Amino acid sequence: MPKKYDPTKEEILSFEGMLFERGFRKMTPSEIESDLSPVPGLQRKFYSRRDPGFEAGYLMEKNGLQVVVWTTWLDWKEGVRNMDAGWVLIRHAKKMEQVYYYSRPLSRTKGYLDRLLKYARRAAWRVRHRPQCPQCNRMMRIAFGKGYKSRYWTCPFAGSHAPLVPVHLDWDCMFTQEQKQELNKERKTREKYRQKRTDQGKENFLALRKRSNTRRRK
Ligand SMILES: [Zn+2]
Repeated sequence: MPKKYDPTKEEILSFEGMLFERGFRKMTPSEIESDLSPVPGLQRKFYSRRDPGFEAGYLMEKNGLQVVVWTTWLDWKEGVRNMDAGWVLIRHAKKMEQVYYYSRPLSRTKGYLDRLLKYARRAAWRVRHRPQCPQCNRMMRIAFGKGYKSRYWTCPFAGSHAPLVPVHLDWDCMFTQEQKQELNKERKTREKYRQKRTDQGKENFLALRKRSNTRRRK
């Protein structure tokens, strides 16, 4: 089990500063409350015993999409919550329940804030460079591919195209060659890690998730 790493206040402030430079702002307590729980007060109840209160969240909005970064950092405690992990998501800017993308949960081991920042920057880059349809020039929508975490861009107005051809773009289409290489390298590393665990007869986060989904459907 990798050792848990607790970021310091200075580190979280520097992390925050880098998010601010990239167009993020800190979410207000009421935004956080309504975001983290569809039932008012649920979060408070859930965490009441050990670390009550709401974790710091950051938000940026561009081209009709929002990026939200959850840190597990508690301002009052000047430390991270005892449980849970950090993560990043991309969602519709108006219909906030419409989440298109979740990063994997980032555990708070060494380099936690660096990883969280990397995911936040990537998500912000996708949103800032949201592609426009090469045929009709309108903003493309995020669609779910067949694989777990598989996403792509699609034009929702393909019905008004002439000729009537659906237009899809690769999920990573806005990245530079260098960024794409980095992304693919990370994906390969994760795939290898998962394979190793499977070979050792261990369960993966992915497998657990799939199983619980199946259970829920019954
Ligand atoms: Zn189009």
